[in-house]
Amino acid sequence: HTKHMGRNGYHFFQPSMNALAQTQLHLLNDLWSALEHQEFRLVYQPKFNAPSGPVIGFEALLRWDHPQRGRLTPDVFLPLAEKTGLIVPLGNWVVDEACRQLSEWRKQGRLVWSIAVNLSTLQFEQSALVETIIATLKKHDVPADKLILEVTETTAMNNPDESVRVLTKLTELGVKASIDDFGTGYSSLLYLKRLPASELKIDRAFVRELSRKGDDATIVSAIVALAKTLNLKVVAEGVETEEQRAFLTELGCNTLQGYLLGKPVSAESITAEAYIHPDENIHEGK
Ligand code: C2E
Ligand code: MG
Ligand code: MG
Ligand code: MG
Repeated sequence: HTKHMGRNGYHFFQPSMNALAQTQLHLLNDLWSALEHQEFRLVYQPKFNAPSGPVIGFEALLRWDHPQRGRLTPDVFLPLAEKTGLIVPLGNWVVDEACRQLSEWRKQGRLVWSIAVNLSTLQFEQSALVETIIATLKKHDVPADKLILEVTETTAMNNPDESVRVLTKLTELGVKASIDDFGTGYSSLLYLKRLPASELKIDRAFVRELSRKGDDATIVSAIVALAKTLNLKVVAEGVETEEQRAFLTELGCNTLQGYLLGKPVSAESITAEAYIHPDENIHEGK
């Protein structure tokens, strides 16, 4: 209870709070120059048609190769980037880099069905989003229907009328939208129905504890049923075990993503592995 905490109580907590605050302050300081110094990287995690392939696309995930701290994951720096607004130029860099990479693979004759990028709330709500996306696709000569924008349920429902408007514009161009971390936000079913998305991604939290008799199985079945009703593809993220893979497939998830099937890796190792299916006749599953 802070109320009863005397001087000593306050002092007791101070050192650790200082350390945290200091780390954040240092990171904040470094964050501004990191973009300029090209310290950000994208890694790519495959999405598979259930149960085991083919790869139907990749999700780009941001990493920061900090000169002193090594490779940092988004949980460490994204909140700071969002608070400071840096996420907007950083997020635009992500879209640019993912499209550049996709276009490089295409020039090598590699078939990649789609590339997905995550958009933060601030980035999604920037007024220039649609223009920026159009310009980026054009710059790299990437067809709009290769790009998937992943926005979380929470972001999409932050200002639902605006989300419907922006996503309608984007989908009219051919860009696809995916509702990420589904089940963790508060969707209005009315808006969900109006959102022109093409897929729902079931949050990892429901996959993690999936067992045949638990509540999460019921929730996953309900999400799958909802997705089918709305004619959306349903993706399960965070698939780590064979049991989860088998059960999710049984429940009707068409696409799987997770460490069991493929971890996020560098573009170079995807190129090297020829991960990308050479068969032109394989169509993306619905
Ligand atoms: P997300 O979009 O839901 O991405 C899934 C996260 O789960 C990724 O973490 C991925 O590495 C991790 N993951 C995938 N499969 C498994 C698995 O089987 N087990 C476990 N334990 N984890 C798995 P990551 O890369 O740390 O990204 C975390 C979140 O940061 C992302 O969640 C996304 O919301 C955000 N993010 C990542 N890259 C970007 C970006 O370029 N821009 C924006 N705005 N947000 C990003
Ligand atoms: Mg995502
Ligand atoms: Mg997710
Ligand atoms: Mg997530």
